[in-house]
Amino acid sequence: MNTNQTFAELKLIEPLLKSVEKSGYTQPTPIQLKVIPHLLEGKDLLGIAQTGTGKTAAFSLPLLQNIALNPKRMPAKHVRVLVLTPTRELAIQVHESFQTYGSHLRVRLALAFGGVSQNPQVQSLSGGADVLVATPGRLLDLISQGFLSLALLESFVLDEADRMLDMGFIHDIKKIIALLPKKRHNLLFSASMAPETGKLVNSILVNPVKVEVTPPSTTAELINQSVMFVDKAKKRELLTYLFESKDLRRVIIFTRTKHGANRVSEYLDSAGVSSRAIHGNKSQSARQKALQEFKNGTLRALIATDIAARGIDVDDITHVINFELPNEPETYVHRIGRTARAGTSGVAISFCEAEEISYLKQIEKVIRKQIPYDQGQPFHSESARNSKEKPPVQGANRHHRSGPRQGR
Ligand code: AMP
Repeated sequence: MNTNQTFAELKLIEPLLKSVEKSGYTQPTPIQLKVIPHLLEGKDLLGIAQTGTGKTAAFSLPLLQNIALNPKRMPAKHVRVLVLTPTRELAIQVHESFQTYGSHLRVRLALAFGGVSQNPQVQSLSGGADVLVATPGRLLDLISQGFLSLALLESFVLDEADRMLDMGFIHDIKKIIALLPKKRHNLLFSASMAPETGKLVNSILVNPVKVEVTPPSTTAELINQSVMFVDKAKKRELLTYLFESKDLRRVIIFTRTKHGANRVSEYLDSAGVSSRAIHGNKSQSARQKALQEFKNGTLRALIATDIAARGIDVDDITHVINFELPNEPETYVHRIGRTARAGTSGVAISFCEAEEISYLKQIEKVIRKQIPYDQGQPFHSESARNSKEKPPVQGANRHHRSGPRQGR
């Protein structure tokens, strides 16, 4: 493959080339190079790729082109392309991408996710749409009330399939697939290929082209990881101590629970560090506002639970702080992958109290290295470091989590 290929050489039409240029992209990313030609030909596709690889443009550009080259006026309540995403945040981002790339085309776009009034969504579907980006719960709600039909659908995109399964959306997805026309164009993206994902792939895709890309940075290379052993009662002080450094400009702090996220945010605010907690209990508008303020630098820190953090796409995160370690090692890898995006370097600091030693050991097993610990920080706890490992509780409910249904 010629990696110096341009967007024009990928045979994208002028209005799309213009938007790509306006977005400041000079060259297609590897997944775009591999995927765009197949999708222009209408082939089914399995894309193994994470967020940060440019996968959204890889599918939205060719889908927009296929629509533009074969314009149709969709009847009321019908859509041509459906993109399903696991979270509202991701739905909003994907919709924004379609808006950006489609800005020089006549395309009708619609967006549907839960947690907000459905009336504007019903309105935007009433005249039919070319592309609908939606989360599974709200999509089914709209269909069951007769506000939407998938009977004329041409292309179906399942984004972040592995997350969908993690979040317990399998039944909703099956229901949705049953409502699609038999003959259609299918795309499925997933960061990993767990056996469950494989089953889903076989039930959706027909002779798919398989494309796999690794994200631009892997954890080992560009992320400076460290552990800070600390007593539980001293974690907050350690946190404010770290924020004395101006290097912590755009920081995501992870907690295991929503309450924990709120408490950390309140504490940071009282210590004069601008921050906001985002999680499923917050209203959609509050989450969007926090994300915007975080992007524009008004907030130095966002405190998130793992589910709330899914789909957040913010570049230039300087630090990831694990205020609490996750009980699943893969989650650690997802968390720290939020920093050092697009080839820049990043810092990941993990607080570890005595109770969390077993989590740390599991993480080190999965990443196949020992994370260096920082003994020089003023709250270092030798007793936390030397505490005994408890029997692990790894993998509890891993694939059937009954966590918050974010798509509703
Ligand atoms: P995604 O993996 O789709 O979430 O995209 C990750 C980020 O890469 C987004 O901020 C995109 O705007 C950006 N991006 C997508 N394609 C390109 C490209 N060809 N050149 C530079 N940036 C890109």
